[in-house]
Amino acid sequence: MAEGTMMMSKESKKTVELPSRRFFVTDLPDVMELPYSHMVTEAFTVNHLRNVLRLKSGESVLVVDANQEISYRATLDEIERDQVLVTLVSKVSELDSAAMTTIILGVGLVKGDRWDWVLQKTTELGVRRIMPLETERTVVQVKNTAQKQGRWSQIVRSAAEQSEGLFLPEVSAPLTPREFGEMVAIYGQKAVLVERGADRQTFNTVLSGWDLTQPVVLAVGPEGGWTQEEVEILMGLNFQPVSLGDRVLRAETAAMAAISAVVYEQGA
Ligand code: SAH
Repeated sequence: MAEGTMMMSKESKKTVELPSRRFFVTDLPDVMELPYSHMVTEAFTVNHLRNVLRLKSGESVLVVDANQEISYRATLDEIERDQVLVTLVSKVSELDSAAMTTIILGVGLVKGDRWDWVLQKTTELGVRRIMPLETERTVVQVKNTAQKQGRWSQIVRSAAEQSEGLFLPEVSAPLTPREFGEMVAIYGQKAVLVERGADRQTFNTVLSGWDLTQPVVLAVGPEGGWTQEEVEILMGLNFQPVSLGDRVLRAETAAMAAISAVVYEQGA
């Protein structure tokens, strides 16, 4: 009997088996007829497939169309130095956007590795957009913005691939709190996280009043905290001040705790 069960589980595993190697493609056309052959030329992806995963032609992979948010079973046809020819064979899955809350995170830039960690971990949890904030008390100065943004988007891309996401979160250039608040003006559900203040509501209370089929915007301050003026600017732009409790968390912990709460509340 034990043997029979084993065989069955082997069988059923076989039928659902999917290639574990996956990568995003951002330049597929809107309309494609399958099978569809596509030349991957992005250096980051080509390098990853050739030199990191060391894939060979004929191998099966999962290609995620980052624009349509659909994944495809595919085969690698030719692997060359600067390009990889891949053929998309069949559709595997499509993002059910209703099943996942769109989370937009504005977060004060933090130093060094901890910033990479913010990008990586919030991506794993499904953040849609990360907007780095340069606030009055931000200690990090971003000098070469384009270069930094390129590196950030690679971190996010790897994290999205690793966590089997169907979309690529966007990391914007650093913004001031006001610029950020104005850019997200169209959204109705916004919270600014504050570590003290009598007027803040618990995040729990605020979340239970939100409709999580609609986007939510979270603003987390930098290591040094928001200035009073920054909190007022955001409140003036319809952000509700919220608390995650009486303990003072580091910015990256606060971001993770708030996003986890949204993910939990929407029942993922
Ligand atoms: N150094 C500052 C603390 C900054 S904490 C001070 O001691 O005043 C960094 C950011 O994390 C804050 O700006 C806030 O957005 C968020 N945060 C930390 N703890 C929080 C809490 N208990 N509730 C809500 N937000 C919190």
